[in-house]
Amino acid sequence: MTTEATATNETAKTTETAAGVEGVYGGPLGREILPDTYFPAAGAAPESVYRLVHDELELDGNASQNLATFCTTWSEPEARRLMAETLGKNMIDKDEYPQTAELEQHCVRMLADLWNNPDARRALGCSTTGSSEACMLGGLAMKWRWRKARRATGLPADRPNLVCGPVQICWKKFARYFDVELREVPLLPGATGLRPEQLREYVDENTIGVVAILGVTFTCDYEPVAAIAAELDAIQADTGLDVPVHVVAASGGFIAPFAQPELVWDFRVERVVSVNASGHKYGMAPLGVGWVLWRTPAHLPEELVFRVDYLGGDMPTFALNFSRPGGEIITQYYLFLRLGREGYARIQRNLLDTAAHLGDEIAALGPFTLLYDGRGALPGVSYTLTDPDGAGFTLYDVSAKLRERGWQVAAYPLPAGRQDTVIHRVLVRREISRDKASLFLADLRRAVTQLGRTAGDSGATGPVSFHH
Ligand SMILES: *Cc1c(COP(=O)(O)O)cnc(C)c1O
Repeated sequence: MTTEATATNETAKTTETAAGVEGVYGGPLGREILPDTYFPAAGAAPESVYRLVHDELELDGNASQNLATFCTTWSEPEARRLMAETLGKNMIDKDEYPQTAELEQHCVRMLADLWNNPDARRALGCSTTGSSEACMLGGLAMKWRWRKARRATGLPADRPNLVCGPVQICWKKFARYFDVELREVPLLPGATGLRPEQLREYVDENTIGVVAILGVTFTCDYEPVAAIAAELDAIQADTGLDVPVHVVAASGGFIAPFAQPELVWDFRVERVVSVNASGHKYGMAPLGVGWVLWRTPAHLPEELVFRVDYLGGDMPTFALNFSRPGGEIITQYYLFLRLGREGYARIQRNLLDTAAHLGDEIAALGPFTLLYDGRGALPGVSYTLTDPDGAGFTLYDVSAKLRERGWQVAAYPLPAGRQDTVIHRVLVRREISRDKASLFLADLRRAVTQLGRTAGDSGATGPVSFHH
């Protein structure tokens, strides 16, 4: 312990005097294992430490080859500049940074317009750290409204439930943290998400709302929001239950309005009370921003809103966090102005074309069956092995093989109802051009050939299989 601390002290002194980056590898820091279990006694020269931390991070996967993430992995220089210039801006300090607060509200109104809120100018919404926080806020608002209505009529309000399809983990957290029963409807055979005909069995007087997903995390497909709402209309006509819908448009909120404008999924659907999206997914903002909007101020119970005075005005805040960086929100505003509807549409259409192309090529490879072909929903594809028992290899093997060339493709089982089906999901983001996709396809083809050959050598191909 003491020796290590002394060593770091010595190191610090020496590197202070070593000139620039070339000094790092020749200096004492270059011969040290960096501290990881004790707090270093002294510091060291910035360029040396920077270099070594930078080098450690080279062990991470290459973000631009990460086909498993929806999140932004590339930003243009102006976006980086704005991020660097706004490092010190705290989103919560609305008094100190009133213009940052204004830009957040500009974004909210622009999104209200994009998502067809009938009263976009009065729209209520806020930024969050991502869709997870946004979903929690949407869920909380539904829980509070449900409880108020129950209490107003003297009914018990102690057993709220939320009905949903194959949701992302944030809703499981919401349910546990905020004491709500999660009624996760299992997938029907062949289905990629919640289907309207399943609702009747799950919805009751304690249902705070139904979650509809515009871009299911697992498969990239959209759940039919309008049909889900129509089924809830029918349920209301029969039972009197008025169940609201929250749309998780984490990914689809920045795809559908530009690439599938004819699809009705947003505030045009009367029953939709709130919508959220991840700015840092197809909104293309740097990591750390999400959005949630409510149909009208009445859909966000007053009790959940805290008021902050600023510039003599009155700024409502609804958030789980207090301090939060402002740069992502400012950069989101930049991107809305920079790209406009046209710019987003051009990019998203390219991504969808690339996804459809990937779908066609992957289907043609032989061993795979597509679950989602890259058409009509998110720019990505999901597929499974047509004959998992006879293939002689698993999708996990394919992932490992692709990893040898740097590609990161997640293999995982589908949620409840189809949990025996293991799938691959390949996502197309802004920096996955057609060219990069073709390089990926070549590597996928190679992986399948090599794995097939190995399986053939060990006699594991054909209808009889020893692989489980
Ligand atoms: C990404 C995603 C989330 C979580 O969003 P974050 O922005 O990562 O917090 C939730 N639901 C769906 C459907 C998603 O795609």
